[in-house]
Amino acid sequence: MVQLQRPPYVYMNGRITSWDDATIHVGSEALIRGVSVFEGIKGYWQKDERTFCLLALREHFDRLCRSARLLHLPFDMTYDDFFIACSKLVKLLLVPGKDLWLRPTLAAVEGHWGLGTVTDLIITAYTQEQQRPAPIDVGISTWQRSGDASLPARIKSASNYQVGRLARIEGRRQGFSDMVLLNQWGRVSEATGSCVLLVRNKGVITPTTAEGCLESITVNIIESLCKSLNIPFIRRPVDRTELYIAEEICLAGTLAELAPVCKVEYVTMQNQSPVFQSIADTFWDIVRGIRKHEDVTLTAL
Ligand code: PMP
Repeated sequence: MVQLQRPPYVYMNGRITSWDDATIHVGSEALIRGVSVFEGIKGYWQKDERTFCLLALREHFDRLCRSARLLHLPFDMTYDDFFIACSKLVKLLLVPGKDLWLRPTLAAVEGHWGLGTVTDLIITAYTQEQQRPAPIDVGISTWQRSGDASLPARIKSASNYQVGRLARIEGRRQGFSDMVLLNQWGRVSEATGSCVLLVRNKGVITPTTAEGCLESITVNIIESLCKSLNIPFIRRPVDRTELYIAEEICLAGTLAELAPVCKVEYVTMQNQSPVFQSIADTFWDIVRGIRKHEDVTLTAL
């Protein structure tokens, strides 16, 4: 589990401010109804030991815009201004040799039931060690992922994470590091902060967004890597029972990266995960600037 610090600076109200001054009003819809959308963006310290790059910045900005539009949150910032805002904060918080995880949040700071909504872009960033994810145990939650007609999973909104939070608390009591959420049809949707991928017959399978998952940027990257590595990749509904017989399982997301699953509920996976290992090795080389891939963009700051 990622440890978050209290960094000295935050981006808020169009400028850098100190952590202690970065406050939000008690009357804001962001606080009262959890009206905000956000992104998690990973920045990688490069192998050349002097460059720092954000992974898929444009894709994250585009998804933030889509989430804002779906929740009727005004957001007219350009990509260039978003880039500048991120760079200002990164320049202050970057520690050479370490990575950063940026969390831009568009919060409704004024308005009532969608009338007179005013938003503010807040960016926090947290230092991370350069570390590949260790294998994890996952459970299957009794809490259910909401559907498109209740809380659409493709909106990366704060409120969408309430069920994930309940699932994590449930999982912690049972000794699991993360939990898989099923959807209203009892099929696999996603984990609390990442997507679920499995290997069957040496091909990678992941549920479609219609199964209740976020439109994941990492999964898109993995799909491109699979194409280059000649590994079959398919998006289709995944039954719960497929988790118990999968050859390999991994959780994928900006923060999770490609985390191998060593146990799902009561089923221990085989020790080796050759398919995900080769994808993860390629992913790692690309994000560290060791090799390039035409579908994966790194933005130097
Ligand atoms: N599902 C959920 C619920 C998430 O929070 C995340 C992390 N953003 C993902 C999936 C993976 O999305 P991405 O690869 O774009 O980070």
